[in-house]
Amino acid sequence: MEKRKRRDPHHSWAEPFKIKMVELLKMTTPAQRKKTIEEAGFNTFLLKSRDVYIDLLTDSGTNAMSDRQWAGLMMGDEAYAGSENFYHLEATVRKYYGYKYVVPTHQGRGAENLLSRITIKPGDVVPGNMYFTTTRLHQELAGGTFYDVIIDEAHDPASLHPFKGDIDIAKLEALVKKFGAKKIPYICVATTVNMAGGQPISMKNLKEVRKFTSKHGIKIFLDMTRVAENAWFIKTREHGYADKSVAAIVKEICSLTDGATFSAKKDALVNIGGFFAVNDKKLYDEASNLCVVYEGLHTYGGLAGRDMEAMAIGIVESLTDDHMKARIGQVIYLGEKLMDAGIPIVRPIGGHGIFLDAKAFLPHIKQDNFPAQTLAAEIYIDSGVRSMERGIVSAGRDKNTGKHNYPKLELVRLTLPRRVYTQAHMDVIAESIECVHDRRKKVRGLKMVYEPKYLRFFQARFKRA
Ligand SMILES: *Cc1c(COP(=O)(O)O)cnc(C)c1O
Repeated sequence: MEKRKRRDPHHSWAEPFKIKMVELLKMTTPAQRKKTIEEAGFNTFLLKSRDVYIDLLTDSGTNAMSDRQWAGLMMGDEAYAGSENFYHLEATVRKYYGYKYVVPTHQGRGAENLLSRITIKPGDVVPGNMYFTTTRLHQELAGGTFYDVIIDEAHDPASLHPFKGDIDIAKLEALVKKFGAKKIPYICVATTVNMAGGQPISMKNLKEVRKFTSKHGIKIFLDMTRVAENAWFIKTREHGYADKSVAAIVKEICSLTDGATFSAKKDALVNIGGFFAVNDKKLYDEASNLCVVYEGLHTYGGLAGRDMEAMAIGIVESLTDDHMKARIGQVIYLGEKLMDAGIPIVRPIGGHGIFLDAKAFLPHIKQDNFPAQTLAAEIYIDSGVRSMERGIVSAGRDKNTGKHNYPKLELVRLTLPRRVYTQAHMDVIAESIECVHDRRKKVRGLKMVYEPKYLRFFQARFKRA
């Protein structure tokens, strides 16, 4: 799939847009960057944006909006209750995702909070295809325990399984046997599993999960943050979907679930926003009531009217095949360039970025010395490219033993914002990583000198070990 038809002009991933306004970038020197990363405690989250050249920290909220979305901002109806833009958003969610009810939230974790609080009781068990940081934390804060039921291949950066986001039904069945279905309020199914490297789930597997959960009366809630990117992989990799549109595949995915949480900061091409969506009226009533406590009235959920308008327009743009071809095309372009240079990356190439295998890149650094955290700092020093750690720091501590969780994957994520950078930027990124790779043996690890209690990767500080 990755090498497919690269030189055939009819298969180019060229952008289906042209550029109307530009934002100037700031250039810095290696000496400046050595100082700034030290001041930031070797944590790329603590760098100032003005010290960054190419920002691949995240694809979250960093998207470039279209002229239509900017025009939509001017159509903001900033009424406290019943904003016109809410009804536009609601109609869009119904039409394109098929869910009956929608509660807007300020971003994805706001929706996760609502879902966790209305469905999870203390002692409950919540299976999922690999954890996500905020998702798992909200499940735990509600008294639940997360169990990973993703297939084993997802934990192997070298496995070429085309759908590493698939769920292992045997693992799910074992949980039902052990705890009983009554203790499992829902299974959280993520599309393009972030922590596995942006790996998709197949429609075939989702159908099996639906069949299994229906039999046991367990609900499926979709973490649909990158559902359109997942649909593109189904279209290009799964038998029987080549002629279906991204929009049709997305609707089919949603139809196999009971509801969803959504961070609009990813797929939906906006800078802020999210929602909780559900088909069950009772759950909707509970969610819209809790929304008033944590987000705002259920017709704005912490968003301005204009934000909901931009989201409604962005959802439609995100579901076009042309957009998705260019989006994933750019990610694959960068990934292939790195592979050609012998850089160890997670394969197959995922949807929202490239994940460097830091264990293979820096084999001499022990996991206790944070190889991925170290590698992200080295790349920044080399070129001002900002990436982020997805390894032991992100995995946090075990909530019972207080020990580090030791994830099998120790990754550096180079996340590509949508519609923001050019092909020449991709070349610079690849060249910089090659430079760091050439001098990898000289790189020293880190030690943690400050550790916050929640989601430590955001604010932890390090020094050279
Ligand atoms: C970003 C993200 C979330 C949380 O959304 P926010 O908008 O950042 O609060 C949840 N799940 C996944 C898979 C994500 O990538």
